[in-house]
Amino acid sequence: MSDSDELKILNPATEEVLTTVPAATAEDVDAAVVRAVRAQRGWAALAPADRARLLRRFADTVDAHLEELARLEVREAGHTLGNARWEAGNARDLLEYAAGGIERLLGKQIPVSGGWNITFQEPLGVVGVIAPWNFPMPIAAWGSFPALAAGNAVVLKPAETTPLTALRLAELALAAGLPEHLFQVLPGRGHIAGRALVDHPDVAKIVFTGSTRTGREIMERCARLVKPVTLELGGKSPNIVFADADLSTALDPFSFLDNSGQDCCARTRILVQETALDEARDFLADALAAVVVGDPADEKTQMGPLISAAQRERVRSYVPDGAPALRGSAPDGPGFWFPPTVLVGERHDSPAAREEIFGPVAVLLPFTDERDAIRLANDTPYGLAGSVWTRDLGRALRVSGGVRAGNLSVNSHSSVRYWTPFGGYQQSGLGRELGPDALTAFTETKNVFISTEGPAQ
Ligand code: NAD
Repeated sequence: MSDSDELKILNPATEEVLTTVPAATAEDVDAAVVRAVRAQRGWAALAPADRARLLRRFADTVDAHLEELARLEVREAGHTLGNARWEAGNARDLLEYAAGGIERLLGKQIPVSGGWNITFQEPLGVVGVIAPWNFPMPIAAWGSFPALAAGNAVVLKPAETTPLTALRLAELALAAGLPEHLFQVLPGRGHIAGRALVDHPDVAKIVFTGSTRTGREIMERCARLVKPVTLELGGKSPNIVFADADLSTALDPFSFLDNSGQDCCARTRILVQETALDEARDFLADALAAVVVGDPADEKTQMGPLISAAQRERVRSYVPDGAPALRGSAPDGPGFWFPPTVLVGERHDSPAAREEIFGPVAVLLPFTDERDAIRLANDTPYGLAGSVWTRDLGRALRVSGGVRAGNLSVNSHSSVRYWTPFGGYQQSGLGRELGPDALTAFTETKNVFISTEGPAQ
């Protein structure tokens, strides 16, 4: 990507240019942070009930623009309409949830002798959020809204390809009455605007979602300033299916095809007990053939395009012509299309079985028994999500205990709820977002001891 000062935003389903957006320079980031520092002081000084009321108004404003936000996400990211509506609703619901936390951001009273000891959760100041293109709206929200609720200002840098919904959210925040400069969105390039945010001494924390490679660089740069960082990185999550499971739900192809597979929680390693392997292969062949791939704005579409030509090339590199695979279909012509694919001839240590592909491609691998399933599931540098399918409750609990990942589901493929914690083990990340502790992650704990010793009577 060039360093020109404009970002060209494409519709990935048609390759048409939707608009161009100015790319922020390092000087723009600096000026935004200066404004944010000032806005944060006023925000933190407001009564908690007033901050909560403003965030609820912001939620109402998002709700009133839900369809507009969803359709913008369809156009800039190629998400299906159903998914995009869920994503806009997720941003609204998280605002409501975070608003409810403002008056519950409790400290502790800790028993001591000679006085009282209390703790306070104080805001950090300005938080920098760096978001990816795969879920532009929810991921921008997860980093930003709990930070705002905890009394911080936010400077958000969306991904180069998908800044439009984040920019609209910032407009809606202002329309709802949030103070100016409290929630700023600066589209720009990672190595310019992103890096400037990471290196800025007045940015107190970075929340980053994206590739493990960039996350590692950001962590190294934050270390120089001893700056805290939350990292949501890649994944290669297992779907562990025992032979006693209901295969028709366990092998739901949308466990890895949702969002065209551009999902860090996608269950792209389908581990099936060997006695059920043939049945699983037959089921998947039929299921992939039935997936409706096409115009994401059509209500009937189940899977849209990939985000870009570069991403399609990357995905294609894992699926050589003639590779043994089950395949669905995809449109020809303009748009970054790739068919739903399950590779069936891979070894568990091949690149396709180990690396995050970030496209509609999974591998089907057999396991023998419970121990073997856990061993294969854990044979990865990642640890974000996973599913376990069995009717045996004891086995479900043992396998959930044995798999090293931050978000597991038993007899389900769900990963993300705004009111439960989300994040990864190992190289899938650091720290947690969402859930009951979401606001606390954007605070410092201050301990104050108050002596009750008086002058001798
Ligand atoms: P990326 O990590 O390069 O970009 C993510 C965000 O970081 C973008 O906003 C980008 O502008 C910014 N960025 C890039 N370099 C930066 C730097 N040096 N300093 C600060 N910010 C920087 O990810 P990508 O290139 O968009 O995607 C590549 C791969 O990453 C994907 O194929 C996928 O494997 C993975 N990915 C994972 C997730 C996830 O949710 N875990 C999301 C997006 C991408």
